[in-house]
Amino acid sequence: ALTIGIVGLPNVGKSTLFNALTRAQVLAANYPFATIEPNVGVVPLPDPRLEKLAEIFGSEKILPATVSFVDIAGIVKGASEGEGLGNKFLANIREAEAICQVTRAFADPDVVHVDGRVSPKDDIETINTELVLADLQTLEKIVPRLEKEVRIKKADPAELAAAQAAQAVLESGQTLFQGAKAAGLDLADLASLQLMTAKPFIYVFNTDDAGLADTAMQDDLRAFVAPADAIFLDAKFESDLVELEPDEAKEMLADNGQDEAGLDQLARVGFHTLGLQTYLTAGPKESRAWTIHQGWTAPQAAGVIHTDFQKGFIKAEVISFDDLVEAGSVAAARSAGKARIEGKDYVMVDGDVVEFRFNV
Ligand code: GDP
Repeated sequence: ALTIGIVGLPNVGKSTLFNALTRAQVLAANYPFATIEPNVGVVPLPDPRLEKLAEIFGSEKILPATVSFVDIAGIVKGASEGEGLGNKFLANIREAEAICQVTRAFADPDVVHVDGRVSPKDDIETINTELVLADLQTLEKIVPRLEKEVRIKKADPAELAAAQAAQAVLESGQTLFQGAKAAGLDLADLASLQLMTAKPFIYVFNTDDAGLADTAMQDDLRAFVAPADAIFLDAKFESDLVELEPDEAKEMLADNGQDEAGLDQLARVGFHTLGLQTYLTAGPKESRAWTIHQGWTAPQAAGVIHTDFQKGFIKAEVISFDDLVEAGSVAAARSAGKARIEGKDYVMVDGDVVEFRFNV
C-alpha cells in the first residue's frame, strides 16, 4: 500500500500526532482490505462532496478515500551510522512512499528538547543530514558499480550521470527532493536507486496557539522547506479534537479560528503528495470515493472497483460533480447534456462521478 512515513526527533509530538491519527482511523469493517497494524493509521480523506452525493442519491453510507500513515520510530543523530534503531529505521523509511517530518515548534519548558533548544530549522537539518548521509552511503556503492558497468556497456551512461548528479546535490547538504530540480535532475530518473531523500517530503510543525497565529514564522518556515508542503498544527489540540462529535469539533475549531482540522489538512496534503486523486460513485447503498493515480484512464480507474470492470470495460458515464449538483439528479444532468459517455482512453479528472458499463 502507499504509505507516508512519520519521522522526527524524540519528544516533538510524533506519538501525540500518531495517536490522534489512529483515533481518527476509519472503521475497519468498511475497508476489508485495510488490515489494522499497530504502527499504521488509516485515516479518511475529508471530502464534503460525498455528503452532497449521499443527499442526492439517498445513500445509506459514505465511504471516503483513505490515507495511510506509518509511525517510524527511532531517528537520532547518527542514525545513518546505525546508531540507536538506525538500520531498522532506515529500512522502514525506504518502504514508505513519502516522508512526513514532524518538527517541534511549541515552547513548553516542561517538555525537554533532545538538543536543549526549540529550533525547527535545526531539527530539520539534524534529520535531513542523517537521511542525506544514508543516501550518500547508498550512492558510494552504486556509483563505482555503474562506472564499471558503463565501461563494459552493461549500464546506461545516463543512469550513471543521474547518480553522479544526485551525489553532488547530496554533498551540498540538500535532500534530493529539495535540490534535484535546480541541478537539472529529474527525480523520476532516480527511482531505481532507492534513495530516501528523493521521496516527496511533507513537514508538520507541531506548534501552539502563538505559533498558529504567527504567520510571519509560518511563511519563513514554508520558504525554508519548499518545495515541500508545510502544515502547522497543535498535536495536543488535534488529539482532543478527534474525541469530539463532528459538530462539537467544528465548533471548537471555529473557536480556535481555524477552518480545517490539522489532521484533515495533513490527510489532504498527504494524499496529493502521493500523486493520488479520487473519482466518485454514488447510489442508494453508498456514496464513495475511489483512489487512483493522477493520469489514470477510465479502465484503470474501473479496475480499482474490480479487476473484471477493467477487463470487460465498455464505457463510462461521467458527470462532473459540479454539474451533477447543479442539475440536482442524474436524470436532470442527462437531459441537460451534462452526462458524458467516455471510452477507454479517457483520462479521469478529480471529482468525476462515474458509472461504468462493462461485460462480465
Ligand atoms: P514523540 O517522542 O515525538 O513521540 O513525542 P510525544 O508525542 O511523546 O510528545 C512528547 C511530549 O510533548 C509529551 O509530554 C507531549 O504531551 C508533549 N507534547 C506533544 N505535542 C505537544 C504540543 O503541541 N504542545 C505541548 N505543549 N506539548 C506537546
